[in-house]
Amino acid sequence: MMIPMVDLHQQYKNLKTDLDDAVAEVLNTAHYVLGPNVHAFEQEAAKYLGANYAVSVANGTDALHLALIAAEIGPGDEVITPSFTFIATVESILYRGAIPVFIDLDPSNFNLDLNQLEKLITPKTKAIMPVHLYGNPVDMTQLMDIAQRHNLKVIEDACQSFGARWQDKMTGTFGDFGCYSFYPSKNLGCFGDGGLITTNSPHYYQELIALRNHGSYTRYHHEKLGYNSRLDEIQAAILRVKLPHLDTYNKLRHQAAQRYTALLKDIVTTPQESIASNHIYHQYTILHPQRDAIQAALKEANIASAIYYPIPIHEQPLFKNKYAHLELPHTEEFTAKCLSLPMFPELTSEQITKICDVIRETVK
Ligand SMILES: *Cc1c(COP(=O)(O)O)cnc(C)c1O
Repeated sequence: MMIPMVDLHQQYKNLKTDLDDAVAEVLNTAHYVLGPNVHAFEQEAAKYLGANYAVSVANGTDALHLALIAAEIGPGDEVITPSFTFIATVESILYRGAIPVFIDLDPSNFNLDLNQLEKLITPKTKAIMPVHLYGNPVDMTQLMDIAQRHNLKVIEDACQSFGARWQDKMTGTFGDFGCYSFYPSKNLGCFGDGGLITTNSPHYYQELIALRNHGSYTRYHHEKLGYNSRLDEIQAAILRVKLPHLDTYNKLRHQAAQRYTALLKDIVTTPQESIASNHIYHQYTILHPQRDAIQAALKEANIASAIYYPIPIHEQPLFKNKYAHLELPHTEEFTAKCLSLPMFPELTSEQITKICDVIRETVK
């Protein structure tokens, strides 16, 4: 039996009746866009996350993009962000004509190195876009302290960390905006694309409501240039069924991670978590110089694994060597050594043992 990276089918089977009913109800009411499920989901998500406002959008990339527009980030503005992330983080900055300034990783945790943050701040810096990578919260106390001292906006890329806390607050609720994705494989995923932006500011909330819907508060009255970026009713109804189960799913992921770590910590570098946070393990990612051999052995044993991410963003062909001079040693090292192992709430202890046995055989 194949062990996949995620088992979306199993999660559907476990909630099948509730999910089928919720979708059927939307189809029956024939209210498909900006209807009662979107409204209710936004309220439920805001309450769960502890944010004053939540605005649903079409996907996580749009969440980041619209947040940058609302924050008035524009051409020539510098935004500090890690190079070790999914491309969407950086795309949103480029959509604005703004300049991504890449920061290296903290070697202990795959997140941006807060000790290097102040060195990168220039008179053009307008914002910091931290990424809570793999569901592991950035130290938001330290980050917000630096941001406030330099009067910088903070747009949190919480696309991998819905439900992860730094101290007693959810990731995505420290900065000016928290941006989330409901792509199917995310910890809270819908059955298509979806996204959400949280904010505590009534001003930003008003901006976002219009930005996601053609710049309009009243139909056919367009106050500003907006977009078509709405979560649809079917996805909202699905998310409303799944949200009450999220904490359980995240706990099961955490337990799976602890099992992995117990079995692997003497042979590979295992993920670190701070006692001030709850890591929700969107990915369980190890580091080892023989990464490729481990991946090949897993494949041979019919076990999936993945490299998130094989090329740092600043080295992507898209930039045509623009950042050729830039040296981010920890980012380079991690791209060469990282390997993400199967991680989903239903992963069994037997499966974890099997995966770890294959790794142990390979690196012994
Ligand atoms: C998934 C993801 C996004 C984008 O989300 P989409 O919903 O796929 O547009 C952005 N940033 C990170 C770190 C992600 O993992």
